[in-house]
Amino acid sequence: MNVGILGLGLIGGSLGFDLRACGHHIIGVSHRASTIETALAIGCVDQASVDINILGAAEVVFICTPLGLIVPTIEQLITVLPQTSVITDVGSVKTPIVKASLSLWQNFVGGHPMAGTEASGIEAALKDLFVEKPYVLTPTPTTPASATEVVSKLIKQLNSNIYYCTPEQHDRAVSWISHLPVMVSASLIASCLEEKDLEVLELAKNLASSGFKDTSRVGGGNPELGVMMAKYNREALLKSMHQYRHKFDEIIDLIEQKNWTHLENILKSNQQRRPDFL
Ligand code: NAP
Repeated sequence: MNVGILGLGLIGGSLGFDLRACGHHIIGVSHRASTIETALAIGCVDQASVDINILGAAEVVFICTPLGLIVPTIEQLITVLPQTSVITDVGSVKTPIVKASLSLWQNFVGGHPMAGTEASGIEAALKDLFVEKPYVLTPTPTTPASATEVVSKLIKQLNSNIYYCTPEQHDRAVSWISHLPVMVSASLIASCLEEKDLEVLELAKNLASSGFKDTSRVGGGNPELGVMMAKYNREALLKSMHQYRHKFDEIIDLIEQKNWTHLENILKSNQQRRPDFL
């Protein structure tokens, strides 16, 4: 199959490696000429260009640009693509992207591979990144079944675990397990930095070890990504954050009241049920 990948970074390059290994002909398009050169050199594409017209031969195109560029990129792409071609994206928020994209192109299937690293750009592309990782597809009642089928077949070849849900369900679920953790972790780091006693602050920095490393990791990552999550998944994220604040207040109350039994019950329940998420 002729598979187009638009945006050759961590996700686009990694998709290129694995779909190419499955025997597909990979046509890559990216913004910078140096990225095209690297993509060809590392072998994640068969042919590549900065010129979007090269995608005229693609039967399926994966849009792998940053979140804010997905819809504008589709607007450009549809001027060169045959009507039978299928477009899918990999953006980490689905509701606004699916809504806008479906109004532009009927054969559109929203997608989100739940795999990645903290690195970005073509140099960060990895083979087998999606193996045994969840890959969410969000077809709507108007999405042609044939389009969903084409994308599903490719995702299965990546050995990913496919989940189907609505864009809204996807956004609510990722707000719990991905976007809320970023904001909680960011608040943790920002709160620590507000310690007024400079000696205590310095001591805390020196004492910080694995616990702080784990809990601050996602809040100390790429600021652009955090802003994108808040901007595009604002509604679901705010709901999760309000619920989190409610729970946090409840725990503050328990500690103020020295209600150790109730506090222990919450912690015990968490200890038992955390593995359900992992
Ligand atoms: P990335 O490594 O920064 O890659 C994005 C690539 O898009 C860049 O390398 C850039 O290539 C290219 N690009 C930028 N503007 C472009 C344009 N106008 N036309 C064509 N290409 C353009 O980012 P990523 O982590 O792969 O993320 C890409 C998408 O995947 C995002 O929508 C994100 O939500 C989603 N996602 C990310 C993760 C993750 O963990 N990182 C996981 C799942 C989904 P140049 O070098 O040519 O500028």
